[in-house]
Amino acid sequence: MAGNNSGGGSYPLDDHVKSVARDLQHRFAQMSNRDQKFDLHVIPDLLSQPVVPEPPAQDNKEAQNFEKYLIAMSHIPLNYENPGLLDEALQQIPLDRLSQEAEEEVELFQAKAASLGRSKPEWSHQECMVRALLRWFRRSFFTFVNNPPCSECLSPTNKVRNVAPTPEERAHSATWVELYACVTCGAYERFPRYTEAWQLLRVKRGRAGDFANVFTMLCRALDIRARWVWCQEDYLWTEIYSEHQQRWVHVDSCEEAWDMPHMYYKNWGKKMSYVIAFLREGAVDVTRRYVGSPDALLPRTRCPEGVLKFIMKEITNLHRPKYAPDGETRLRLYREDVAEDVQLRSLWSATLEQSRRLKAAAAAAARGGRSSPDNKSGANMMGSPATGDIKRPIPEDAPVPDVPSLWPTYGP
Ligand SMILES: [Zn+2]
Repeated sequence: MAGNNSGGGSYPLDDHVKSVARDLQHRFAQMSNRDQKFDLHVIPDLLSQPVVPEPPAQDNKEAQNFEKYLIAMSHIPLNYENPGLLDEALQQIPLDRLSQEAEEEVELFQAKAASLGRSKPEWSHQECMVRALLRWFRRSFFTFVNNPPCSECLSPTNKVRNVAPTPEERAHSATWVELYACVTCGAYERFPRYTEAWQLLRVKRGRAGDFANVFTMLCRALDIRARWVWCQEDYLWTEIYSEHQQRWVHVDSCEEAWDMPHMYYKNWGKKMSYVIAFLREGAVDVTRRYVGSPDALLPRTRCPEGVLKFIMKEITNLHRPKYAPDGETRLRLYREDVAEDVQLRSLWSATLEQSRRLKAAAAAAARGGRSSPDNKSGANMMGSPATGDIKRPIPEDAPVPDVPSLWPTYGP
């Protein structure tokens, strides 16, 4: 899959970029050796390094289509960035109540931290505010709808077919309408599938993708940095940036789940190929955060890995200058990008190491030997969602001056 058409692009790869990538690879390998937990040689395609950004080859229509698709989706979070509409969204949020709930929860986290002798609580007011928003949103505000009930008699309905939206529905961003028939009175019930968060905010009902769309927008209304996360295998959720923990936190508003990135593969047995986080300042491939086991990673066949990397940077180059016009902000975002990349690499390394250990233990048990997993090596890396690896040391001097060429058209 990856690399099946590399080299055929219209932009020749720059040797310097390649050498920088090799250098990065070397340094990450050194970091890994220091921790003595990683074996980069076992990393499959998703992480085989160096992956150098390269545009889709001219004869690779599928990769070009994937590029267009991702670029189109990257505009969705930009829809949230409308001050008037965000203000309208804010009016719907019971701020006083949520703020009080957040305050109470922060006190609980503080008490817990004190009882454990920790200097700081696990979550601060900012995250507790999102947690309160999450509870309110799922329990009181937005309703999950599969088959909409009959609006005449409230009886259940059965789907008839998809139909075209009326001009009015289309004006409110409906791309198609699901038509349902009431089992009791026979009345037809229309369920327009709206794409814009503003309209969904008004109708207050929808499916998982609608939850993610509206919830991400409400986070933006609270001025919290938020990402709209798309999974190729038909699911969507949100990530918010925790200043307190200096990392992106998984939030699934449809499941009322907080910081449980492994829930999809662990609880649902979901396998995934591409998970891409979109935000107003760009796009990031965050698959490694959510695929908690190599067995849960589906083949990534839509484009070579270098092309995906190129597309992520292309999208970032496209949107970031508008939302990060000054050098200081760009530098901060760039450092965050590098730090997150290191986190995702170490997360995936730990995932592979854990998988290797489990398989070795299973093989030993099958041979009739005593299997006692070595708890010193990578233990608990997958057990605690997201947090296990995050506190792994990230170089303070994250290599901003070293790698500008990896950002060919845009950098701090
Ligand atoms: Zn009815």
